[in-house]
Amino acid sequence: MSSLEEAIALLTPRRRLLAFTGAGISTESGIPDFRGPNGVWTKIDPSEFTFDKYVTNPETRKRSWQMRVSSGVLDAAPNPAHRALVDLWKAGRLIGVVTQNIDGLHQAAGLPDEAVVELHGNVRTVDCLECGASWTTEEVIARVDAGEEDPPCTECGGIIKVSVISFGQAMPMREVDLAQQWAAQCDAVVAIGSTLSVYPAAYVPLEAKETGAAYVIVNQGPTDHDDIADVVVPGPAGETLTSLASRLITNP
Ligand code: NAD
Repeated sequence: MSSLEEAIALLTPRRRLLAFTGAGISTESGIPDFRGPNGVWTKIDPSEFTFDKYVTNPETRKRSWQMRVSSGVLDAAPNPAHRALVDLWKAGRLIGVVTQNIDGLHQAAGLPDEAVVELHGNVRTVDCLECGASWTTEEVIARVDAGEEDPPCTECGGIIKVSVISFGQAMPMREVDLAQQWAAQCDAVVAIGSTLSVYPAAYVPLEAKETGAAYVIVNQGPTDHDDIADVVVPGPAGETLTSLASRLITNP
C-alpha cells in the first residue's frame, strides 16, 4: 500500500481533522520556504533578523522593508493545496488550520478567519510598536517606494513593524490557546509543508498526538517528526492534498 493510501485509510474514520501548515504549502504559490532546498535561509542569515536587532538597528529595519517590497508575498494567490483544505472544511471534516505562515493564503482560498489560527502573525498589516497605530502593509510599502527607507509611525514617530512574529518575539496568547484547544479536540492532525523544527509552534501536532490523535505528515523532504508520525507522505502538497481531500469527501 502506498503511503497516500495508508493516510487515506487512517483518516477516513476520523471525523475531526486539524491541519498544521508551514511554508512548504505555499511554495506552489511562488513563495519560497525557509529551509527547503531553495529556501530563504540558504541565502540570508536568520540571526540578522531577530526582534532585538529590528528595534535597535535602523539598518536591519531598512533591509527588512526592502525584502518586504521585493518578496511578492502580498501578490501571491492560493494553490490547490490551500483549496483542498477549504473543501475539507466545507465538508465538515476540518476543525481548522493552525498555520505558521504569514501569507494569508488560507483565507484567500476561502477559509473564514475563525477557521485559521496564525501563530506567527500576518503580512497584511503594520503596527507601531510604541503607540499601537496600525496601517495596511500596502500603505507603508507605498511610503518605502516613495523613498522612506525606515518609515516611522505617522502618529508618534515610533518604530513600525509588519505584524509578523520575529525570532525572539513571543507568540500571540489568544492564537496559542485556540491552537491548543483544537489539538485537544481533533482525532487526527495533518502537518503539511513544514520541517516541524520551529518551536513552540511545532508542539501543536505533538500535543494532538499525545492526546490520542493520529498523526499524518505531508512533506517533501525530511521533518523532525518523521519518527513520531503514524504515516509520512513524501509528495508535493498540492497534488497530495487534492487526492486526500477528494477521497475523504467522497468516502464520508
Ligand atoms: P520550512 O522552510 O522550515 O520547511 C518547509 C518544508 O516544506 C521543507 O521541508 C520543504 O522541503 C517542504 N516543501 C517545500 N515545498 C513543498 C511542497 N510543494 N510540498 C510539500 N512540501 C514542500 O518551513 P516551516 O516549517 O513553516 O518553517 C517555519 C517558518 O517559516 C515559519 O515560522 C513561517 O512563519 C516561516 N515562513 C512562512 C512563509 C509563508 O508564510 N509562506 C514563507 C517562508 C517562511
